[in-house]
Amino acid sequence: MSDLSVAQGPVQNRRAEQSARQAVLVEPGRLELRQVVPPHPGPGEILLKVECALSCGTDLKAFRRGHPMWPMPAPFGHEFAGVVAEVGEGVADFKVGDALMAAPTAPCGVCFYCGRGQENLCAQAMRQMVLGGYADYLLIGAHVVARNAFHKPAGLPFEEAALLEPLSCVVHAHEMARPESFETVLIIGAGAFGLLHTMVLKALGVREVVVAGRGTQRLQWAGELGADRVIDARGAAVAQEIAALNGGHGPDLVIECTGQVAGWAEAFARVRRGGRVVFFGGCPVDTALSVDTRRMHYDNLTLLAPFHFRPRDVRKAFELLGAGRLGLGRIINARRSLAQLHEVFELLDRGAVLKCAVIP
Ligand SMILES: [Zn+2]
Ligand SMILES: [Zn+2]
Repeated sequence: MSDLSVAQGPVQNRRAEQSARQAVLVEPGRLELRQVVPPHPGPGEILLKVECALSCGTDLKAFRRGHPMWPMPAPFGHEFAGVVAEVGEGVADFKVGDALMAAPTAPCGVCFYCGRGQENLCAQAMRQMVLGGYADYLLIGAHVVARNAFHKPAGLPFEEAALLEPLSCVVHAHEMARPESFETVLIIGAGAFGLLHTMVLKALGVREVVVAGRGTQRLQWAGELGADRVIDARGAAVAQEIAALNGGHGPDLVIECTGQVAGWAEAFARVRRGGRVVFFGGCPVDTALSVDTRRMHYDNLTLLAPFHFRPRDVRKAFELLGAGRLGLGRIINARRSLAQLHEVFELLDRGAVLKCAVIP
């Protein structure tokens, strides 16, 4: 026993006892890198030494106009992976030094929605989100440690492991939409999520994935990341180009990834008769979509609006990443240090990067 305690001494001290950096979104447009003392984890909790955090469209939205779920000042960043620096009482599955990847949320398991298998709607999932990935250290809550945290496979880079959260959203959407290998799928929006959908659909063996988006650079990235075809959404003949897909029937499935009402309307208008639409991108508050009831009924459309993810989606996303054949890391096309976080948001704001890895 004495050997063990001696061996643990230096390991326990891996955590910085003094000061560490934590990015805080003070108000929209104002980020601060603050000096904080990392907390000791409570029962069931883990203190993570962040190895990588990823930028996300949701972060950019919050940076630009605030976020209803993140009262400011708020610790910033929710896609992360790292190494366990300290464990709280009762944590059995992880120990100091383990490489860990986790989703930033986890459901309670006992509420109305959890009881119906709709854990994505659990109030706890949103209320107790782990925020603060742009930092040296991050405290992972007991609920996440218990349900949505995993040992990072040795061969998986930290930055790819940090894709667990966005990939879980994508997996959840695909579980609802059930794309078939013989189908033609149209993705509206060539941002990080649109291209993550594209890469996963191609890996699943979907015959044709078409990306409609804006900007030469983005469309070029779409092609490089596996889109069978790209359509310039600002072109004069977009409607005709889309209608000509699938032997003139139009796309079987349309996945809307812009989070703008115009994109939602476009998705509804372009899907083939009998097809499915996935409204993946959430729109600004107080916006509305007008639906042509004749088309909805007589064209037998299915409209789906997946939100967030369930533990089974996180598990599946973990398995996809662990299998390592998707090469999803290719979506990360910039790297910056924590001290350069301001620059990261300038890049995102200009649309000059898909996903940026922030390495403390
Ligand atoms: Zn995200
Ligand atoms: Zn619940």
